[in-house]
Amino acid sequence: MAPSLRECVFVVASEGRQERARSRSDGATLEIPSHLREMHACDFRAHFFCAVMNARIVTLLLGLIGVLGCGSPAAAQRREIQDDRFRQLEEILPTPNIYRTASGAPGPEYWQQRADYVIDVELDDEQQKIIGRETVTYHNHSPDALAYLWLQLDANLFTPDSDSALTRTAPDLGRMSFDTLRSLLTRETFDGGVKIAEVKDAAGQPLRYTVVKTMMRVDLPQPLKSGESVQFSVAWSYQINNAKVLWGRTGYEFFPEDGNYIYEIAQWHPRLVAYTDATGWQHKQFLGRGEFTLELGDFLVRITAPSDHLVTATGVLQNPADVLTPTQRERLQEAREAKEPVFIVTPEEAKANEKSKPSGKKTWVFRAENVRDFAFASSRKFIWDAQGHDVEGNRVMAMSFYPNEAEPLWSKYSTRAVIHTLNVYSRYTFPYPYPVAISVNGPVYGMEYPMICFNGPRPEKDGTYSKRTKYSLITVIIHEVGHNYFPMIVNSDERQWTWMDEGLNTFLQFLAEQEWESDYPSERGEPKHIVPYMRSAQQTPIMTDSESILQFGNNAYAKPATALNILRETVLGRELFDFAFKEYARRWRFKRPLPADFFRTMEDASGVDLDWFFRGWFYTTQHVDLAIENVRLATPAPKDPEKAKSQKRQERDEEPKTLSQIRNLDLPKFVDALPELKDFYNEFDPLTVTDDDRKSHEEFLKDLTDEEKQLLATEKNFYVIELKNVGGLVMPVILEIEYEDGQKQELRIPADIWRLNDRQVSRLLITDKTIKSILLDPHLETADVELENNYFPRRIVKSRFELFKEKKGQNEMQKKKPAAKEPAKTP
Ligand SMILES: [Zn+2]
Repeated sequence: MAPSLRECVFVVASEGRQERARSRSDGATLEIPSHLREMHACDFRAHFFCAVMNARIVTLLLGLIGVLGCGSPAAAQRREIQDDRFRQLEEILPTPNIYRTASGAPGPEYWQQRADYVIDVELDDEQQKIIGRETVTYHNHSPDALAYLWLQLDANLFTPDSDSALTRTAPDLGRMSFDTLRSLLTRETFDGGVKIAEVKDAAGQPLRYTVVKTMMRVDLPQPLKSGESVQFSVAWSYQINNAKVLWGRTGYEFFPEDGNYIYEIAQWHPRLVAYTDATGWQHKQFLGRGEFTLELGDFLVRITAPSDHLVTATGVLQNPADVLTPTQRERLQEAREAKEPVFIVTPEEAKANEKSKPSGKKTWVFRAENVRDFAFASSRKFIWDAQGHDVEGNRVMAMSFYPNEAEPLWSKYSTRAVIHTLNVYSRYTFPYPYPVAISVNGPVYGMEYPMICFNGPRPEKDGTYSKRTKYSLITVIIHEVGHNYFPMIVNSDERQWTWMDEGLNTFLQFLAEQEWESDYPSERGEPKHIVPYMRSAQQTPIMTDSESILQFGNNAYAKPATALNILRETVLGRELFDFAFKEYARRWRFKRPLPADFFRTMEDASGVDLDWFFRGWFYTTQHVDLAIENVRLATPAPKDPEKAKSQKRQERDEEPKTLSQIRNLDLPKFVDALPELKDFYNEFDPLTVTDDDRKSHEEFLKDLTDEEKQLLATEKNFYVIELKNVGGLVMPVILEIEYEDGQKQELRIPADIWRLNDRQVSRLLITDKTIKSILLDPHLETADVELENNYFPRRIVKSRFELFKEKKGQNEMQKKKPAAKEPAKTP
């Protein structure tokens, strides 16, 4: 049976008297002592109640006062179940200091290290090898003296005895694709580790070094003092992984049809490990999932590749005259001001290049300023298109590099998606500061680097493509180009906190997708899409070290992105959120924020205490499930005895008759046969108005002021909406109230309503109208995992079932039996 509104009446009492009140639902009568009414002197709300049969009076009084929001229901019981979801985060956040303020901004003594690189690297297309030599200038801006430096040798991930390989747990061997088997077998033997040839100081003297798994410690002859710089060089080489066999964020792809390769090269040179005020050296080894924590600096990189390769990289090409044809340079010039992407190398030219043989080598020189990393791509298969675009005053060359296999999808969407991303992200953060933004198609499905990213989706061989492929491509380009903002520029610690770049980036990705076209099929961002994850088992909080996260994509991408969307749309509103989010991006642009800096800035700039939100969404695995438990209606009881008693008579008449009462109605009664047995009480009705009633009413009225008489005439409905928090996460309560007259009203109640009781609360609604129904979270904005308890009254849950006819299959013997032969024809 569907729940209905429960009605009760309340009695308006004048000062200094005790009034008797009667609840319609059960008929219990009880007294409210006047001192209690005065204690909760919030006008006459304190005198209003719905009695519960069998409840002890004290409990009842506390309960009804709590219902009205001026007390605490069942306080003793609640103490045990109450988790303080509004407890401030200070005790778990790092103590603010001179490097990071309590407002979430960089402090007056904020510092970060700097590493500048000059690198010569050769790409060996015959043996798929990288051979490099770099000179690093490391600036110690920390207050500490450093006796040694740590470098990252990420390619050591690809050795059979790496921690990544040794700690990988067994896969499911029940069913295996050829790709998986090929990958497992290759991992057993392939050595893609870094071979260090030498480490020398600026004077050319060897430096002592120790390789520790994916890191290398370089011992300095004397400690590097605060404020000083040191220069040293490293020579190394390594075997490039086949990224189609050994998954990675870098690698090559081989095309058997034409014998060519596409190289997407990253994590390719020894890079300085970050040294920070929060962690010292970031000593978490590379296990494959937690990404990269890096220092900002300038790069000058000379890339030597086969003479017929096209090379693209982080930064600006310094020697176009040496490596590009006059036609290509002309087209580039034209593209700078073009209104649409212009081919620098056309599909036909790229096709022709596939058959070319190198006449030697060419060296491409790139310079990049204020970047935390450097990646490049190289192939003779590349088509190249470009379009200059103005991003809030910064002229950016948006470019794409892709083989003919990526057509016709890539020339249509890639560079345009790059431009769209820069527009949207710049608006929500800061103007894109770099001179180029590049999207490359190759074996890596989606990976970001400063100014350049690698994106995988391609159409079928015949040039057709599914809807999924199309939107995967646009989505992955928005995502990877978007990473320029987080973590390439807002330089968070990826090795530790995946959500700080992936979560924030996925949130902005959702905004950019929705600005690409109406109803863009975004998979992450909408609260309703996170519901299956939120109700799943096997979760970790968002605030979990990258390597220990369960359900990685949901935890580190989708959940924080959705949380931020909810924070924006439901908790803060767009204006406050956008201001605060931009402030965070602006404060930490080219700096290194920690989670606390984000939490603190969002509060500091919005002016809203969000500790409950960050605590619930980032530090727990609770989910949202709010429910409407009940709705009660109270109306003022008439004081006029004529009205009061007539109303009570009506109520008495409407009370349901018991089965025996109904069946006994026509039974001959003993006293009917002997009327002399009837007396006064057979006729007496306590609901008949007496002179005493009238007199006492007149006296009551005499004591009232005019204003009290006006209050007495109140004819409003007092609805109490009882809410329950089933899931655990506290959230704002959004109610759509539909009245009998067809009008709708939306009531948006901040999450703070749960601050005294995080399990159940009530909200009073005073109205002239009659409520027909109430719907909780009508716009699906809170990721509420159970919607049926959001309806009041409950609705009938509908579904459809399919009819089918049983078909009997053949057993193995029947299948084996030869088909009945046709009768032989007589010749
Ligand atoms: Zn990402």
